[in-house]
Amino acid sequence: MKAAILSIGDELTLGQCVDTNSAWLAGRLLQVGVETIEHCTVTDDRAAIARAIGDLASRVGVLLLTGGLGPTPDDLTREALGDVVTPGEPLATDEPALRRLGRLFARRGRPMPPSNRAQAMHPSTMQLMGNPHGTAPGLSGRHGDCLIYALPGPPSEMRPMFIRHVARVLGAAGGGVTGAGSIPTAAVHAFGLGESAAAEQLGDLVARDRVPLVATTFSESIVTARIRGGSAGRGAEAAVAKAVDLVEERWWPYCFGRNGQTLAQAVGERLRQAERTLVTAESCTGGLLGKLIVDVPGSSEYYLGGWVTYCDDLKSVCLGVPPAVLAEHGAVSQMTARRMAEGALAAAGADYALAVTGVAGPEGGTPQNPVGRVHVGLARKGGGPAAVRSFDFPGDRASVRDRSARSALQVLRFALLEIADDVALLWEAPVRDSAAVC
Ligand code: AMP
Ligand code: MG
Repeated sequence: MKAAILSIGDELTLGQCVDTNSAWLAGRLLQVGVETIEHCTVTDDRAAIARAIGDLASRVGVLLLTGGLGPTPDDLTREALGDVVTPGEPLATDEPALRRLGRLFARRGRPMPPSNRAQAMHPSTMQLMGNPHGTAPGLSGRHGDCLIYALPGPPSEMRPMFIRHVARVLGAAGGGVTGAGSIPTAAVHAFGLGESAAAEQLGDLVARDRVPLVATTFSESIVTARIRGGSAGRGAEAAVAKAVDLVEERWWPYCFGRNGQTLAQAVGERLRQAERTLVTAESCTGGLLGKLIVDVPGSSEYYLGGWVTYCDDLKSVCLGVPPAVLAEHGAVSQMTARRMAEGALAAAGADYALAVTGVAGPEGGTPQNPVGRVHVGLARKGGGPAAVRSFDFPGDRASVRDRSARSALQVLRFALLEIADDVALLWEAPVRDSAAVC
């Protein structure tokens, strides 16, 4: 069965409120075997809402509406539904619902404002759905072959109502709510590969007519393959699992995790399995690398801590980077990255040390060290001088810092997996500053 989601509200079309309801609903619909093929957002305008309802209902088997069920004059979903499903008829009042609303206000010790009466009204062919978390009941009914559900806008009211009243019915129609009816999906994440290179490596797997369907997205420098089965059932689950294996094979060694797994989690798991510890020495990332590592519950098992050494003095005092190195090569140099990593490793007695130094911008770039130039040092116990990899990251200050921290994690992951040094990461720069080569 195919679905469409119509979200209603000026605050959504004007961009003042982000439409989280549609994303949540589409995810839940997949779990009951229903594929969403269209999202639509309209303003609080009765004619626009009615037009969208009529149009979408003619093309899908299920239409979910959210918003516009409140008591104020801008809440017009009930009226617009009436215009479509019972044209020319006035809305009916559901007396038990009206009494329930009265009791709700009595319990709160307040008289019911007359405007709330509207919330017990409905097109005569639609039923009300109870709302234990607010005053706005939902509505359910049909228009032609299309099932229509109107849900409240506030997520805290919309979500329980969907689970209680809608998921059950759709799950039964689509094959059961126990999981047997869900369309299998999976995600594979990679870092250090450009989006087009990633898609090229997937080749025939991303053909639009392939089942399961594989599509790539690129967000926060992470490229993700989203895989979706063609139907519910065991066969589709096996096909999705096979597609996951194929994507991972083609993206190796850049792919680091599936579904909700982060790069820091993947690195942490490796460190934990190998019983190794990590310390960090950060300059331009200002603690972001440590934050990503500590975001993972249980990171205390392998992460000892780190230094944020932003000025030259701290690099010398905390990490033992010789002032002469800083004077000769500069704070943003391969030599400084190397000495930061080695100093952190020695000071903390860790098995691995990651160091990051670079120019995050927007100011401070020079011809020798342009904005975005970042060096990542990796020292390992008993491993001799630290290895350094250099990058030229595009983007603003936030992107450069984010890409620096994530690249450092991928550098460590590659080392833990013993991936050859010549497997380049996205934005990795050839060495240009011969004086800084270590
Ligand atoms: P309404 O039911 O239209 O009065 O919406 C009440 C409130 O719910 C809005 O002011 C928003 O804060 C929230 N809301 C409405 N629609 C959405 C949506 N699609 N996604 C997230 N929040 C929403
Ligand atoms: Mg509204």
